[in-house]
Amino acid sequence: MAARKRTAPTTKTRAPARGNLTPRGGAKKAPPPRPAARHHLPHVAPELVDGLTYVRRLIREIPNFPQPGILFKDITPLLANPKAFHIVLDAIAERFMGEHIDAVVGIESRGFIFGGALAARLNASFVPVRKPGKLPYRTDKVSYSLEYGESELEMHRDSLAEGARVLVVDDLLATGGTAAAAGELVHRQGAYVAAYAFVVELCSLGGRERLMPVPVVSFLMYD
Ligand code: AMP
Repeated sequence: MAARKRTAPTTKTRAPARGNLTPRGGAKKAPPPRPAARHHLPHVAPELVDGLTYVRRLIREIPNFPQPGILFKDITPLLANPKAFHIVLDAIAERFMGEHIDAVVGIESRGFIFGGALAARLNASFVPVRKPGKLPYRTDKVSYSLEYGESELEMHRDSLAEGARVLVVDDLLATGGTAAAAGELVHRQGAYVAAYAFVVELCSLGGRERLMPVPVVSFLMYD
């Protein structure tokens, strides 16, 4: 079979340039400009442009768990959705890029999920803060009040260098008692809490005020 003659594509058939402002169709009138994107996150499909709305739909609310009167914010649907997980991690990590974070301290247990991923993105150490009796080496321990009763958190004593800049991460900020206790463990080692970061903040419970003057970054805010 004779080889078909190859011809250079004409202007008409050439694929239009992608992702720039060149109007298509030569002399035809240029289309009206697109409205400006409402979100800065790169590589997010148009339907996901509003990352906040997308992620918010994936927080499941479970009434009366783990006890009557608590509306539990279940983040497992968010974790099951890779796009949502990326959106949250990108937004939080972006806030701290170039700020020099030496270590991310994650609070057991859901703080490990986000804290570990953020530490990798920020090129920082990851340090777990755990419930009592879980860490095998010498630990510092802090007691703190919960809504009902007391609890304790521990951190390995050799986790942080003196003067280190630390980001404390958990899934949710409620009254701020848990995060403040983790902050106290950071201070015990002569390190500084540069900021606290959460996926969800329950604003009416006053956690942000309790953690002041340290900056608090949260992705989703609820009344
Ligand atoms: P707090 O010390 O009051 O700020 O409580 C924050 C800690 O308790 C975090 O580790 C959360 O995972 C957990 N927590 C508190 N309230 C809720 C809630 N409504 N839904 C899910 N987790 C919660």
